[in-house]
Parts: sequence; C-alpha cells; structure tokens
Amino acid sequence: MFVPARCANAIRAYQLVTDRGLCLDYYNVLSVSVDATDEEIRIAYKRAAMQWHPDRHRESIDKNEAEIKFKEIQQAYNTLSNQILRDRYDRLQCNHGTHQSPREQEREDEEFDSWRERYYPRGGNVKWKTTITLDVALNGGKISYTRKEVRICPDCDGVGTYLVGCKHCGSTSRSGRSYCRFCNGFGQTHQYCKKCDGDGLVYETITNQINIPKGVVDGSVLVVKKLGKQSKYFESGGVNGDLEIKITIKSKDGFKFTGMDVTGSLKVPYSLALLGGSTEIDLPTGKKALVNIQPRTNSGKKIRLSGMGLVNNLGESGDLILSVLIVLPKSKRRLTDEQIKTILDLEA
Ligand SMILES: [Zn+2]
Ligand SMILES: [Zn+2]
Repeated sequence: MFVPARCANAIRAYQLVTDRGLCLDYYNVLSVSVDATDEEIRIAYKRAAMQWHPDRHRESIDKNEAEIKFKEIQQAYNTLSNQILRDRYDRLQCNHGTHQSPREQEREDEEFDSWRERYYPRGGNVKWKTTITLDVALNGGKISYTRKEVRICPDCDGVGTYLVGCKHCGSTSRSGRSYCRFCNGFGQTHQYCKKCDGDGLVYETITNQINIPKGVVDGSVLVVKKLGKQSKYFESGGVNGDLEIKITIKSKDGFKFTGMDVTGSLKVPYSLALLGGSTEIDLPTGKKALVNIQPRTNSGKKIRLSGMGLVNNLGESGDLILSVLIVLPKSKRRLTDEQIKTILDLEA
C-alpha cells in the first residue's frame, strides 16, 4: 500500500501507524465527513466501537480483526474528539478524500448506497393474524400490536463498556518509567455495562397502535411498513421488514363473516314456511332486510340476498346468506279435531 510522504510524517509524528501498517484516515475509520460536528463524531464512535468490540467477535479470526479495528476506532476518536489534535491532524492532510471532484464524490456516493443495500438488507416480513369486531370493520378503529425490538443500550450507548480511570496507574498512564501495561498507557480501562451485560444491546417491548381503515372485510390483509422483523444491521441503517396483518371478523349475534359475505340462520314460523310471505330481520350491520319466503319452504333452505353483505373499501358488496330454521308455535292450546284433520290432509 502506497503511503503519501506527508502521511508518513504524520505516522511518525503521531504514531498513527496501525498493526496493518497503513496510514489511518480517521474520518474514514469513523465513517464521518471531514466537516463532522463533535456530536456526529461522538455518535459515530459509539456505533463503530459497538460494532467492533472484540467481545462481540468470538471467532478467533474475527476477534483479531475486531481487536485491530477497535484500536483504530479508539485512536481515531481520541484525535477527532480533541479540537487541538484534530486541527493538527487536519493540517497534515492525512485524509485522502479531500481532493475529489464533485463527480467522483457522486459516483462514490452511489456506490456506497448500493453497497449499503447489499450489506445491510432489510428485515423480513412478519405475518400476523388478528380478530377484530364488526364495529371496527364497519367504522374503522385502532388495534394494538406488541413486538420486541433490539435497541442500543441507553446506559452505555451501545459500547457495552464504560471508560473508568485505571486503578493500576491511578489514571496517570504510567507505571514507573514505562507505560502502564494494564491500560496500555491510556490511563483508562473498560468496565462492563451492568444494564446490557456488556452486550451493548437491550430488548425493548414496543406496542404500536395500528389504524384499521373503514371497509375492512374478513380475510383482508393490511400491510404496515417497518413493523416487521428488525434488520440484523439496524445499527448501520438497515430497515425493518413489513407487518402483514390478516384480519378475521368476530361473529356477532349468530352471524358469521366470510370475505364480504354474511351468513346466519333465519327463524321462520311454520305458517310462513308453509304459506309463504315475507319477514323482516335485523342484520348485525344495523341494517334491516326484507326476506321473501316461498310457500312450502323447508328448514335448511338457503336464501341468498345479493348485495346485503359487507361493503369493502372499493364499494363492492357481498351477499347475505340465510339458512331457514322453522319454528313451531309456542302456544300449548289443544287443537280441535277439525284442525288436526286439516294438518293431516296436508301430509297426504
Ligand atoms: Zn449497556
Ligand atoms: Zn493504567
């Protein structure tokens, strides 16, 4: 790797050389722009330190890589978070990206975007079934959806450790004539965060209120953006998947809902079943339906009233399907011989 002369000076002057023997571009290490504010640098450092904390990379090859990266990140932060060191670093022009033309910059940005999509894929979609009342289906409403999400630990800002003064050297960085070997001369050591056990992450239970629009019918699927599985790369900007809600409508007053159709039974007095006529029933939707009964209608006969079912959000309506149930009179009055004869005659 070619190291520019000025960078080579910088390496000697500030010991910027890493275990890889490269001149470190501190802005690149923290993925910030050269004009990043102190706050942007602080946030970038926490993210990077969390991502590369050696304890999070347990495989030996990964661990070595992580240890080097972690050290680089700390070096970069130590310099960029101190205005005097940062100014001196900037004067040495050790950042390689400052002489790019706008076109080059644009191309690099595009490459970065496609790289990010490839490396930080969004989370998967989640399918969820839920039952709502007819009232919510007809008038719209809200339902609650609870899920767990990983968050960056608020106590340690995701780093997993706190920096505390080194006990061995009393934060002086030195032990006798040499550097303190317990803190590698930093004067501070890391202590595991109690809230997240050094993981840098905590699980949070989140309840979202989801709007159910008017005109939802049984079997509708609502898609809510970004409430699905969390991207594995959420810390780096990976987006959550979507939540797909399959809606079922709860039965009401003996009526069931299937798609846009409403099914139920229709109690018909035996005289009406025999002689025919019409009857009015109250529907669970609050409407009334006038039903024509043909003479000699049997129990179990299905009567379909087109357009009397639920109405979806496109204005299309389903059917009302009624199953006839013949009801005998409750009266215990004795029948006269003549009445019995008439009934028996009908059977013939
Ligand atoms: Zn923590
Ligand atoms: Zn020490």
